[in-house]
Amino acid sequence: MRALMQDWSLTLDKIFDHAARWHGEREVVTRSVEGPITRSTYADLHRRAKQVSHALLEAGVKPGDRVATMGWNSDRHLEAWYGTIGIGAILHTLNPRLFPEQIVYIANHAGDEVLLADPACAPLLAEILPQCPGIRQVVFLSEEAPETPFPAQAYEAWIAGRPTDTPWGGFDENDAAGLCYTSGTTGNPKGVLYGHRSNYLHAMMTLQPDALNLSARDTVMLIVPMYHANAWGVMYSAPMVGAKLVLPGQKLDGASLHELIETEGVTYSAGVPTIWQMLLTHLKETGGKLTTLQRVTVGGSACPESIFRTLHDDYGVDVIHGWGMTETSPLATVSVPSPEIADLGFEAQLPYKLKQGRLLCNLDLKLVNDAGERLPHDGKTFGRLLIKGPTIASGYFRAEGGEVLDDEGFFDTGDVSTIDPEGYMQITDRAKDVIKSGGEWISSIDIENIAVGADGVACAAVIGIAHPKWDERPLLIIEPKPGAAPTREQLLTYLEGKIAKWWMPDDVAFVEKIPLGATGKINKLALRETFKDYKLPSAQAAE
Ligand code: AMP
Repeated sequence: MRALMQDWSLTLDKIFDHAARWHGEREVVTRSVEGPITRSTYADLHRRAKQVSHALLEAGVKPGDRVATMGWNSDRHLEAWYGTIGIGAILHTLNPRLFPEQIVYIANHAGDEVLLADPACAPLLAEILPQCPGIRQVVFLSEEAPETPFPAQAYEAWIAGRPTDTPWGGFDENDAAGLCYTSGTTGNPKGVLYGHRSNYLHAMMTLQPDALNLSARDTVMLIVPMYHANAWGVMYSAPMVGAKLVLPGQKLDGASLHELIETEGVTYSAGVPTIWQMLLTHLKETGGKLTTLQRVTVGGSACPESIFRTLHDDYGVDVIHGWGMTETSPLATVSVPSPEIADLGFEAQLPYKLKQGRLLCNLDLKLVNDAGERLPHDGKTFGRLLIKGPTIASGYFRAEGGEVLDDEGFFDTGDVSTIDPEGYMQITDRAKDVIKSGGEWISSIDIENIAVGADGVACAAVIGIAHPKWDERPLLIIEPKPGAAPTREQLLTYLEGKIAKWWMPDDVAFVEKIPLGATGKINKLALRETFKDYKLPSAQAAE
């Protein structure tokens, strides 16, 4: 028997319609590409997004065509976002921090036709556009277009005077809405193709109190770039509840973020650990305070304990650890205390908060060994982490990488983790970064997280170095803080007692700068390349 309920397809345009109609006066604040802070509302943005739709239709964009954006978090980018998906075209968020040859590959692979870009990307575009013949129109997300060797228009002139009631919707909820390429440390980047329904469900899942817990009373500052991993779904979840939005543009330094948090009364924010580290350094140097910020979601890489402690103890900010990946829309687990843990106080909660957390509703996780057999959830056994659900990729764009699901329909995340009896998942490594020593696995991330808390350390990385007896042994690589000079002995003494004896790095190397990838994560591939001929003292002794 069919239910007697109305057929209301879950398409993303409805979210913005809702925000404009029921939270129309709520502000959206942007640090604009022109410099000043600008203010508008959901209702304003909705009208302008409709103008974008009109301009795209006039440019010949049809449902299923790819419209690329390349820009930082801004109101215009948000208008372009909804203006594209509202007419059933696919929004492809391009990451300007990738190498030009990667962007060329991605734009051609995606089949991008129209590109809306921040003016700061003009020099990069001059380099890549000759190699991207499919891109037939370029619009700069600004008042005026910069001088360029290729034809381009300014966004404001492009949308000016157009109708503000271009029709949206009319497509299937399972149609594609967004395309985002994974950073891909091996092989070519691969496209993850989100749907209207999957993004709609993801936004609703993340809004639960035990996840982001956003409301109309929140002021949300989105630091996660709109070009990375679906912006953690915040461009859907914040308008869904009518939260005030603060978009920091390109200025992500501690001082600029702090200014926005305080002047706009930001209550919630989301970003990778390095952002919070920069903000905390700024606050320490200036004696600045966080008077409105209540909670932040930190994810993208493991959040070091020092960030949890400092934000909690010195600024009264609750850190919520989240895990996910481009292929999982991205949020999948969140670390909030269960009732048994909630009453125990901060110190007792911390070991759980440091884990990547418990699974959101709608998803299923499993932990398996290399033979695909399920492993126990005892908090100790490491295994490959597989995931399933309506917000998880079933394959890559244009079938790159072939079949990606196992025979039970689970997607292999490439992460190695444990799951404890209370259901908290903890990432111990990327499958390719885990250090295999004498048949046992050592978690590079665990050692890094502890080492970064040592005096004088700005950033720490651990990689496996070939060893004649143990296969691989850990090498600790340290980027000292400016002016600091921690020694090998100090660092190893600091680690003593904090990690198992056989996890102790065999050596410590110092570098001026630990290389970061385009999404701010430690680039282990580059480190492995730099240290490929490195000889551990213990290896020489064993030879
Ligand atoms: P991306 O698709 O670029 O967002 O990268 C996803 C990967 O980042 C995951 O597969 C994890 O390896 C890593 N990651 C994301 N969140 C966390 C976290 N909270 N802790 C540790 N690693 C994380």
